[in-house]
Amino acid sequence: MRMLAALILAVGIALSCASCSKQEPGSLTAAAATLKADTLKSIAYSGTGKWFQFGQAPNPTLPWPAFDVSRFTATVGYDAPAARVEMDRIQVVEPARARPAPVQQRPIQLVSGKYAWNLATPAGAAPGSAPAPQPQPAAVEERIMEIWTTPHGFVKAAAANNATSQPMNGGSEVSFTVGGKYRYVGRINAQSQVERVQTWIDNPVLGDTPVEIAYSDYRDFNGVMFPGRIVRTQGGHPVLELTISSVTANPAVAADVPEPVRTFTPPAVNVAVEKLADGVFYVKGGSHHSVAIDQRDHIVVVEGPQDEARSTAVIAKVKETIPNKPIRYIVNTHVHFDHSGGLRTYVAEGATVVTHEMNKPYYEKAWAAPRTINPDSLAKAGKPATFETFADKHTLTDGKRTIEIHHIAGSGHNDAFAMVYLPAEKILMQVDAWAPLAPNAPPPAAPSPFAINLYDNVTRLKLDVRQIASLHGPGIATLADLQAAIGQAKPASAVTSSR
Ligand SMILES: [Zn+2]
Repeated sequence: MRMLAALILAVGIALSCASCSKQEPGSLTAAAATLKADTLKSIAYSGTGKWFQFGQAPNPTLPWPAFDVSRFTATVGYDAPAARVEMDRIQVVEPARARPAPVQQRPIQLVSGKYAWNLATPAGAAPGSAPAPQPQPAAVEERIMEIWTTPHGFVKAAAANNATSQPMNGGSEVSFTVGGKYRYVGRINAQSQVERVQTWIDNPVLGDTPVEIAYSDYRDFNGVMFPGRIVRTQGGHPVLELTISSVTANPAVAADVPEPVRTFTPPAVNVAVEKLADGVFYVKGGSHHSVAIDQRDHIVVVEGPQDEARSTAVIAKVKETIPNKPIRYIVNTHVHFDHSGGLRTYVAEGATVVTHEMNKPYYEKAWAAPRTINPDSLAKAGKPATFETFADKHTLTDGKRTIEIHHIAGSGHNDAFAMVYLPAEKILMQVDAWAPLAPNAPPPAAPSPFAINLYDNVTRLKLDVRQIASLHGPGIATLADLQAAIGQAKPASAVTSSR
């Protein structure tokens, strides 16, 4: 955060020297002149295209899933800096992948200095209610990056951060570091256009995550030179593809930080433990849950979600609940980043990762990336990760208790997808295949194909399930609840937070 503040201050000193040295075509100064960067304080651009959900690929070899964008507008201020991005998007349904019916999404995302927030109508609010600000402190880094990687932002940040240039292909390559931490490398072509910008931001799974933006089809939009085509990749796959239809110079940027955002303090990571059976503990307290299983001389943890902060707090609580034993295994349900971002902390603890065989090469490659922006405990420990993998089924046992890990075959959610079953206790652990409804929540209009597939897998494997511990959501459910959710029977009991 201190680095970000430095970045904001550094770039607040606006570029004003575009004309004070000789403008070699293809140089940074020529690019600044082409873009009229010293008279442009803000910009708005609109278009249509595609957005992709980073970290949520349907299997580790596929790109991020696509959404059609029917409306995209970004308003960016360079002096403050601040930005507001909004779009209308809907998920593209891939052939041969059964997903719940996509819903139209209308996110509104803002950043101003060291504050980031979304505007959204709160769940359960009356129709037509005004959107309320939702603080998003973890999004500041990415949204500020989006400002300095725009063509105008890049030349302004380059000028403010002592960029170095070297000639390349009739243009130049310009690089600089912001706040001693965030490296930017840009390519200016022979027409003095910023045609590519590369930078890196932190991610719990990918470490220093490459972000690359390609700008093409530059033209004059009402007196502003701007690319007609923008393609951004993050972590090696596209996250945004836009065809620009309009650009406005120097619009007002409405990014006053709302009071609830300015005064927001992120709560400490909360961890709460609920006993499901002897030696089986549901570790909750946040949006994503784990299960800790007390084996004879070690502990097995199912799921290492989110990030190192969550894992550190969960590990401390697990060790308090089950003292004097090492965590020998961390079982991973799937590679979606919200379910795998905390795995590395367990590896640093000495745990072996149990995951579907498709995921191992992905983690090995991702975890080998540099982690200079935010080194985690595993980066500091320098330990190699060890894996136990499976195609259909894997069993962990201490000679007394058996833990079965099963592939959830044929799910539209993910191809390398696992659930965990305790045959003696008749407990099933799963996530994202089915989310039990909160008490009194209205049932979905149509059953989720993911839930139908989960039930099919439970039936196929003849699992005798008494409790379903979801690793998201409100709590324990029963197989009858799952049957009810897919329209098979009336619920035998409501979802409760305990047995
Ligand atoms: Zn998922």
